[in-house]
Amino acid sequence: MTELVVNEIFHSIQGESSHSGRPCVFIRLTYCNLRCTWCDTAYAFEAGSPMSVASILSRVGSFGCRLVEVTGGEPLMQEGVHELFRALCDLGYEVLVETSGSLDISRVDGRVSRIVDFKCPASGMVKKNLWSNVEQLTRRDEVKFVIRDREDFDWSVARIREHGLDGRCTVLMSVVFGELECVDLARWMLEEGVNARFQLQVHKYIWEPSARGV
Ligand code: SF4
Repeated sequence: MTELVVNEIFHSIQGESSHSGRPCVFIRLTYCNLRCTWCDTAYAFEAGSPMSVASILSRVGSFGCRLVEVTGGEPLMQEGVHELFRALCDLGYEVLVETSGSLDISRVDGRVSRIVDFKCPASGMVKKNLWSNVEQLTRRDEVKFVIRDREDFDWSVARIREHGLDGRCTVLMSVVFGELECVDLARWMLEEGVNARFQLQVHKYIWEPSARGV
């Protein structure tokens, strides 16, 4: 029986992609191979409990919601995640995964929408980006840049143009919460004419910014 180490499973409002605003069940898996300077989910680095895929499906089903996001931590660190993806898709759920872009996304079930969070310089993790993932991206997928300062913004625009990301999938830009003003990012996007979608971390405006399980 396949088990995964799960940090938390909860029902909330999707806040960080083009699905933002939709009710969604989140499965937060334990462990991460990165240590971003501004990480807001460090509590998922180690804490968690083993759960069988069947138990996870049962818990997800209890919320009566058809949109499910698998997140972390870094959800692709656990081999069992692929069985979980298959099982969720076979049950007809609309499935999203949020991954850092540092691990190979090619094995993710083709029915899953992959939100790839390539890391900007201020994260301290820029060398971990696995750019071969770009070749895997389809219209179903999204790329996200979380931006802390002007250097991050300029770097992101250069990567969008270098890899033709906006021709492959939706590109998202958001601020590091509390560290860059939204209006600054919005102005830079307009001035630069970048073909990306500005987004807020909606859940941080609905609930307390530091709240867990929401
Ligand atoms: S990849 Fe995500 S969970 Fe991992 S350190 Fe960075 S922000 Fe935190």
